[in-house]
Amino acid sequence: MVVALNGCAVNPVTGERQLSLIPESQELTLGAEQYTPTQQTQGGQFYLDPELTVYVREVGMKMANVSDRPDLPYEFVVLNSSVPNAWALPGGKIAINRGLLVKLDDEAQLASVLGHEIVHAAARHSVQRMQQGMLISAGMAGIGMAMSDNEWAGLIMGGAAVGAQLALAQYSQGDELESDAYGIKYMKAAGYDPQAAVELQELFLSLSEGNESNWLNGLFASHPPSATRVQANQELVQKIGGGGYRGIEIYERRIAKIKALQPAYDAHDKAIELASEGDFSGALASINTAIKAEPREAMFYALRGRIYQNQNEPGKAQIDFDKAVSLYPEMFQYQLYNGLNELALNNLNKAKDHLERANEVVPTSISYLRLGDIAKEQGRRDDAISYYSAVAEAGGDIGEEAKRKLAAMTN
Ligand SMILES: [Zn+2]
Repeated sequence: MVVALNGCAVNPVTGERQLSLIPESQELTLGAEQYTPTQQTQGGQFYLDPELTVYVREVGMKMANVSDRPDLPYEFVVLNSSVPNAWALPGGKIAINRGLLVKLDDEAQLASVLGHEIVHAAARHSVQRMQQGMLISAGMAGIGMAMSDNEWAGLIMGGAAVGAQLALAQYSQGDELESDAYGIKYMKAAGYDPQAAVELQELFLSLSEGNESNWLNGLFASHPPSATRVQANQELVQKIGGGGYRGIEIYERRIAKIKALQPAYDAHDKAIELASEGDFSGALASINTAIKAEPREAMFYALRGRIYQNQNEPGKAQIDFDKAVSLYPEMFQYQLYNGLNELALNNLNKAKDHLERANEVVPTSISYLRLGDIAKEQGRRDDAISYYSAVAEAGGDIGEEAKRKLAAMTN
């Protein structure tokens, strides 16, 4: 147990001694490297209302500044997903979904959610879980599958898959209680009414007893609510005293835009549901409603492109994928859809460009495989072999296809 002895450190939040095999420098690097890819596998940034992100960052920083690790390189983003969720990567890289923001009533509740995530990052909970090997055994099951539109989830390769696991794996009850307790203390220190944290937990507990799949796939999957948590929070708030800033009006003002956009996102989510049931004309009608309501949302065009693909209309799909890419060029999924569609149209160079752009942000086995096909088709034998080799060990149908093609080329 030499490693354990050398690796002992003090929990930066609680002051307790704990096993620490991953040094702080590595913790910060991990969070910084995985932040963008992890955002992208969870819907990407919500870019239609940059003011909202500024606001979330302000509230987050108020909480971070009174935390036990105020010097972490904190960042806060709003993600474009209807799933009610929030997560933290090591080093203070935090995200909250549009789908959770619309469910909160005031700024104190937002501070509660962000404070809880700050503790997960500051107390190194996810780093601890990684050390314990829990994340590896958790595998990719359920990761990123919160919305059925994320079919790439099982295809993500390398470090980006680690980020998704760190963000979405389930925390232990002990970690949850610790995050609640310190989050409540930070609320008090920042001037927020800590009672908001209790209310939120009560709401989450009652919702989790229902059967709202959106919630069960989101916040509850990684941060399981419990009666124990509600009671512990209640006792703590009684001890330190409730009362403080709620910020109802400012919160309502700041989320007015996402509230107004909600019918468009509902129509988008409905279109996904219809498409997954095989009703592509119904899906098309629903996504057209969404596009009409908000013509600047890349996600809507990307979905309509995929519906056209399913209807064997790659020409129409191409127009929509180009639009999605022009609105949000950094988003790997839109580049990937576009690349695969260009390949179907036999536009090899365009396909190559889009797939390479996608791989720069989030490498996937499907894009490696198709880049291999393109290289082979264009007579770049060494490139083809290196793409196929990279994906041959990925397993599943894609890994098998790569193995077959590799064997055919090297025999
Ligand atoms: Zn939690």
